[in-house]
Amino acid sequence: MKPVDGIEEKTNEYVAERVELQKAFFRGGHTKPYAFRVDALTKLYDAIKKNENEIISALKADLNKSETEAYTTEIGILLEEIRFTLKRLTKWMKPQKVKTALTHFGSKGYQVPEPYGVTLIIAPWNYPFQLQLAPLIGAIAAGNTAILKPSELTPVTSRLIAKLMKEIYPPDFVEVVEGGVQTTEYLLDQPFDYIFFTGSVPVGKIIMQAASKRLIPVTLELGGKSPCIVDETADLELAAKRIAFGKFTNAGQTCIAPDYLFVHKAVREQFLTELTKVIKEFYSDNPLQNEQYGKIVNERHFSRLSTYLADGEVVFGGKVDGENHKIEPTLLIPHHTDVDVMKEEIFGPIFPVMEFDSIDEVIQFVVDRPKPLALYLFTKTKEVEENVLNSVSFGGGCVNDTLMHIATPFLPFGGVGESGIGSYHGESSFMTFSHYKSVLKQTNQFDFSFKYPNAKNGLKIIRRLMK
Ligand code: NAD
Repeated sequence: MKPVDGIEEKTNEYVAERVELQKAFFRGGHTKPYAFRVDALTKLYDAIKKNENEIISALKADLNKSETEAYTTEIGILLEEIRFTLKRLTKWMKPQKVKTALTHFGSKGYQVPEPYGVTLIIAPWNYPFQLQLAPLIGAIAAGNTAILKPSELTPVTSRLIAKLMKEIYPPDFVEVVEGGVQTTEYLLDQPFDYIFFTGSVPVGKIIMQAASKRLIPVTLELGGKSPCIVDETADLELAAKRIAFGKFTNAGQTCIAPDYLFVHKAVREQFLTELTKVIKEFYSDNPLQNEQYGKIVNERHFSRLSTYLADGEVVFGGKVDGENHKIEPTLLIPHHTDVDVMKEEIFGPIFPVMEFDSIDEVIQFVVDRPKPLALYLFTKTKEVEENVLNSVSFGGGCVNDTLMHIATPFLPFGGVGESGIGSYHGESSFMTFSHYKSVLKQTNQFDFSFKYPNAKNGLKIIRRLMK
């Protein structure tokens, strides 16, 4: 499949009409029954299964993703999320009983999950299929309608998502509005009930500002610089394999990829030897020609990444192919920590390597910067693990692995501080797209008169009950 031409922008009127349609459908109550949600999720599951080859081809065209990467990081993860949701949806939808206070004796308290209504889900280009549809699973499970806005930078996948959604859903339930910045601005001007955004920190701020005009609740799944730390007790061979996998999957264009590395100076040489060995094993001596190795999404990002190569001494890799937008897996010793590669989110296959003497230096370095989306620590020392986990705030991460925390529906996924607001996956997706309505059901069997104005000894009794 060849890349298609750019995605056209939509008009404000068009966008407003799409939202109005969904408002009416939601008000009709169609999306709320359990059977409707199950049917919609099953349709999504079947469509993904049936169109596996087309999805793989679209990801190949947009990002040169290998079939293995396309399956594990985009298709398989969605199928698992849908199965997980279908198995537990009845339980999640049930009102949750809570205890009541002594002052409320005789009454019952419970929380009822209800859908927000019409939701907007905006996706980035790096995992363009998965990051568009994973939030949709939560939105549907919770009983919402959704407008999807795929990234215009991966046009083949954007078109495919639009086609698949049209085949399985009516537009008043789920509709894809393709477009770029202009279209998104029009969308952000609409009265959505919830906005779920995945993308960069600067655009996340634009989204939150736009949402604030109508006080629309948001989830922001953003990015940043995720540190990776290898101490002197780590299993170096295993760490090298897991770090190379996390850093160079999708040519480093992964929100939770290790951004930079701190390795203990006692094991630095040995670790770099292991790391270069494993990179060659994964992508051969000539990664630029290797089919398993991804490309950079476009010219702009290719040029941006190429300039980082001058920010330090290249100790491995460093070759580029401008025509095909490819950059070798590259290890770089930065000139200092003030260069761009150490200040900006890299989002590519360039890996700055720094050494450390004491873990406290590393902790200080990380906490002096915005809270990362992910953190990876490789150690066999319990005290080091506890020290890092207790001292550093980050969205989520792994001890002795990379990326894997995102791939289990049992763990909520999200950022903190500048790396994001809110979380999703598994039950937390359902919770994200639900408002939990608190309800107190009072008994009519009796009524405490002491709470009313002028009740005899009222205040005395209240004081006793509420002390
Ligand atoms: P981006 O912020 O440039 O774009 C994301 C979406 O916002 C796209 O659909 C785009 O059309 C739209 N957009 C872009 N500029 C806009 C503007 N000015 N106004 C309104 N809408 C606009 O992000 P990207 O380049 O597509 O993706 C890369 C970023 O996303 C990285 O920072 C990465 O860390 C982050 N990311 C985060 C996660 C996560 O789960 N936390 C996952 C993937 C990517």
